[in-house]
Amino acid sequence: MKAGHAEVRTFFLDRDGTLNAKPPEGRYITDPAELVLLPGAAGAVRELNASGRRVVLVTNQRGVARGLMTSADLTAVHARLAALLRAHGAFLDAVYVCPHEVGACDCRKPLPGLLKAAMRDFPDIDPADSVTIGDSESDVLAGRAAGTGTVLLQGPGKPPDNTSADLVATDLRTAVGLLLMSSKNGCVSKGGRV
Ligand SMILES: [Mg+2]
Ligand SMILES: [Zn+2]
Repeated sequence: MKAGHAEVRTFFLDRDGTLNAKPPEGRYITDPAELVLLPGAAGAVRELNASGRRVVLVTNQRGVARGLMTSADLTAVHARLAALLRAHGAFLDAVYVCPHEVGACDCRKPLPGLLKAAMRDFPDIDPADSVTIGDSESDVLAGRAAGTGTVLLQGPGKPPDNTSADLVATDLRTAVGLLLMSSKNGCVSKGGRV
C-alpha cells in the first residue's frame, strides 16, 4: 500500500460485514446455520489463495465474553465458514479471534493485538506489504496501529464515513480486485474511493 511497494502479500480480513452478512447490532452469529457469505467474498478469497497471498481472519467476538455463545459454538461457526469457503475453492491461512469484553484485553479491534499475534506466528509477515480490510473504522484503526495499509468497506449508497482508511471500496471483491491489479501496475493512492 505504500509508495514503492509493488505487492500486497498478506491480507488481514474482518469477518462480519466483510466475508459474511453482518448480524444486527448487538447480536452475534452463534449458530453455523446463521452464517451467510456475502456475494463475491469467497471468490475474492479464492483469488488471493490462487495468487499466493496469505489470508488471515481477524475478528472480534465479544458474544463469548457476554455468555451468548461458547468457544465451542464459535469453533462450529468457523468450521462452517471454512466449509463454505472450501465449496468455492477458497481457504483462510489462519484465524485470530478476540472473545473478550471491551477494555479487557489488548486484542479487541481497534487494538492491533490480533494482527500482532499473527505477525509473531508468521515472522515473514511484513506490515509494510500487508493490508487490513473491514467494514468498521475499528478495523482500519487496528490495521493502522499494526502498520498495515487499510481498506474500509462501505456499501454503495451510504454517505462516506469520516475514515482514516487508505482506500474505501464497496465490497471485498472490489477491494481485492483493485489491490491485485495495483500490485501489477503500481500502488494505490491514498484517499481513493472505488
Ligand atoms: Mg465487521
Ligand atoms: Zn481480546
